Amino acid sequence: MSALPQTTQPNGVFDGPYYLSIAGKLVESKNSFDVINPATGKVLAEAPAATAEQLDAAIAAAKIAFKSWSALGYDGRQKYMNAYADALEAHRDELARLLTQEQGKPLRTMAEPEVDQSISWIRQIAERRILVEVVEETAEHIVELHHTPLGVIGAITPWNFPVLLALWKVAPALITGNTMVIKPSPFTPLSALRFGQIAQSILPPGVLSIVSGGNELGPQLTHHPDIAKISFTGSTETGKHVLRAAAGTVKRVTLELGGNDAAIILPDADYRSIIPQLFWGAVGNSGQWCVGIKRLYVHRSFHKEFVQAFIHYARQQKLGDGLDHEVTVGPVQNKMQFDKVKAFIDDIKANGQNIVLGGDVDENLPGYFIPVTVVDNPPESARIVQEEQFGPIVPIIAYDDVEDAIARANNSPFGLGGSVWGRDTAAAVAVANRLETGMVWVNEIHTQGVDIPFGGHKQSGLGTEHGFEGRLLFTNPKTVLIRK
Ligand code: NAD
Repeated sequence: MSALPQTTQPNGVFDGPYYLSIAGKLVESKNSFDVINPATGKVLAEAPAATAEQLDAAIAAAKIAFKSWSALGYDGRQKYMNAYADALEAHRDELARLLTQEQGKPLRTMAEPEVDQSISWIRQIAERRILVEVVEETAEHIVELHHTPLGVIGAITPWNFPVLLALWKVAPALITGNTMVIKPSPFTPLSALRFGQIAQSILPPGVLSIVSGGNELGPQLTHHPDIAKISFTGSTETGKHVLRAAAGTVKRVTLELGGNDAAIILPDADYRSIIPQLFWGAVGNSGQWCVGIKRLYVHRSFHKEFVQAFIHYARQQKLGDGLDHEVTVGPVQNKMQFDKVKAFIDDIKANGQNIVLGGDVDENLPGYFIPVTVVDNPPESARIVQEEQFGPIVPIIAYDDVEDAIARANNSPFGLGGSVWGRDTAAAVAVANRLETGMVWVNEIHTQGVDIPFGGHKQSGLGTEHGFEGRLLFTNPKTVLIRK
């Protein structure tokens, strides 16, 4: 175990240096890359760029650590994981601040809750067990079903929730007896490097390694023969590469991919009371969440009033640097995404669609700021309706017939989440049951929990995270047949 460098400033701010975490040690790299603060467009810090040899070393250490970690049993692992949660809690404020600085999300309303939820997740999952099940017993024999850990898990994470999405993988992988190597997104490696540094003073060497670098590390991880499973969160296109690469050594794969979630507001909905939930469901994290509302289908009887009420609420929000406590909407996370979201706005304008709020990007601002943009009733064929915008643009589409709204919601290669809103709960549930998605919320949005399975249908994913089902996917079913 290595001592944590004492670099946290007296005011609780951590400003590096950042190290790779490999085999229980904090390791420097020959090369580094810039991490940009999206609120300023300036370099926030240098992150180490791991070499192929360093990634190999992390995997080799994880393979060695697997023997003793898996042998510890659930209770032994739970103690370590609780100690890790305590250590993260002691660094909670600096982790949240770092998250805002590298990702852009508002500190109070987004970054602190993300860190808190991640810590709570570790503690709660550490309590969960997968027990041996007797599936058959006769006078002659007994058949047991065991769930054994897989080995070394490779985790590949995106830039929208860099703490939560990584620790969502760490907690179930470790408690079930696996070890893990994380490759964070090159856009947001710092918070993962930091929670990795903290882990090295708590967990046995090799149990959790963090290896940052460019996209080229991803394929190295997905092709590596000593990786038993890839737990991937990111875009559908990259997910397909992961799936292909995993075939080489028949790796287990869980894919959490893109989405184009619809929210259907039924004719009987008390729409005024749900505007804040819908607004944040769409625009929270500047629209950069996989299960964000990306299409709002509103019954035509109140569509006009709905658009006005939505705009009214949106106007009360402040766009800016997430460290400013008055800011509720931060920048988009990186230049690539900024350009992508601007291209959606250009397409909306070029096609004469009706922007009723926002739509003008001030290129003179430092950082990657896109104002909340509302598009009034674009056609179903519009790019902003058909594709995942992953930014603060909300198309509000009028429909006449609920059947038609369901058909449009389902007419997508994606099937991640969705939501249905109406006073008659049974009627809303009946609609929800017909959506072709991995998750659907009725009169609420984005509720999550360690026992609530989370995953995508169609091209939004493969397998599930969370819940008993999610934990099972970090194990191998092993049938033991014993003659009495
Ligand atoms: P991305 O696919 O570009 O990158 C994700 C990760 O994959 C990064 O760490 C990247 O370095 C790595 N990577 C890139 N090329 C690779 C390759 N060939 N092999 C292996 N790894 C490779 O995604 P992103 O832009 O970081 O994230 C945004 C996307 O993620 C959106 O589509 C969003 O909907 C999706 N997402 C899904 C969920 C979910 O739970 N379903 C959650 C968050 C984000």
